[in-house]
Amino acid sequence: MSRVPYRFETRLLHFGGEIDSATGASSVPIYQASTFHHEDIFHPPVHDYSRSGNPTRQKLEDYIAQLEGGAQGFAYASGMAAISSTFMLLSAGDHIIVTEDVYGGTYRLLTSILNRMGMEFTFVDMTDLEQVKEALQPNTKAVYMETPSNPTLKITDIGAITAWALDHGLLTIVDNTFMTPYYQRPIELGVDIVLHSATKFLGGHSDVLAGLAVARTESLGTKLKQLQNGLGTVLGAQDSWLLMRGMKTLGARMTYSEQGAAKLAAWLTGRSDIEAVYYPGLLDHPGREIHEKQCSGYGAVVSFDVGSGERAKQVLNAVSLPLVAVSLGAVESILSYPAMMSHAAMGEKVRHERGITDGLLRFSVGLEDIDDLIGDLARALDVYK
Ligand SMILES: *Cc1c(COP(=O)(O)O)cnc(C)c1O
Repeated sequence: MSRVPYRFETRLLHFGGEIDSATGASSVPIYQASTFHHEDIFHPPVHDYSRSGNPTRQKLEDYIAQLEGGAQGFAYASGMAAISSTFMLLSAGDHIIVTEDVYGGTYRLLTSILNRMGMEFTFVDMTDLEQVKEALQPNTKAVYMETPSNPTLKITDIGAITAWALDHGLLTIVDNTFMTPYYQRPIELGVDIVLHSATKFLGGHSDVLAGLAVARTESLGTKLKQLQNGLGTVLGAQDSWLLMRGMKTLGARMTYSEQGAAKLAAWLTGRSDIEAVYYPGLLDHPGREIHEKQCSGYGAVVSFDVGSGERAKQVLNAVSLPLVAVSLGAVESILSYPAMMSHAAMGEKVRHERGITDGLLRFSVGLEDIDDLIGDLARALDVYK
């Protein structure tokens, strides 16, 4: 689908908007304007109001559309703005099949806001196609996937679910935040809409909150455009520029962080005081084969169980290199505690059923030297045995 005959790494730098055509400037100009002058009322300017279209945001939207191989891209104020705007394609009475370990914020949107709008949801284990098939109802309109899932990194077979969904006329949506188009391009597997929290790997520096969506077809793009403009969930010009700045180094960052993550996962696996390690690159990961079919890498996130909630909290307080924080996908490593952070709102029983135990930590590997990160974690783990 790509319109430019270069490989992905090259297209990250040469995406069509990298040189300002008016001045030759080496980055996209920031058009910090809300509105645009009509020099001739009979020939209105291309952009007339920044909610409906802004030249800086447009470059970013074209950039992500090209990277994902879709017809049109859209930029939003956050990942949740992209996700909530996309769900507005659906209507009261519609039923949607959703992966059970969907991002916590998406779970909240569906179960506390969109349910009030009359939408119905069934949460299923998407690693099992049979469960997806069984969830089909006469009013089912869409399937919502996320792979690898968060924080236990379960793998959904995007191609198999999409082929089944196509047979039933269902819209398919994938949250591609963890892999990014560098490793996984769902539109090439037939998916209709790809979503991102660009706050994570695409932005990559923990300094911008943003969301992106890419539509496979022009007709879906037209609908998303109407929603983005109608809801006003747009990304500002400054943040659009910052995001593009981050995206240029996506390939270099992903490759380097992934090497570290693989080393960290192997090291954790070799320790007798770690109860479980979740990383799609591990030989015993149950979804590894499917993951390798649809992805060209394993990513930079490793989750592991240190045995108890008490020990997890000790480790969090004892590490000195990673940020102890919500979020992931940045130049600095981030260590998160799902039980008290991203999944705090989930009832304990459901949380434990989904493998999000009290001892589970999630490590997003950044660009530090991996041996320093491992050394730091080793010291923190040895505080409490
Ligand atoms: C962070 C995240 C979101 C939400 O994005 P925001 O930018 O925080 O609104 C959605 N999906 C996944 C997988 C995420 O990690």
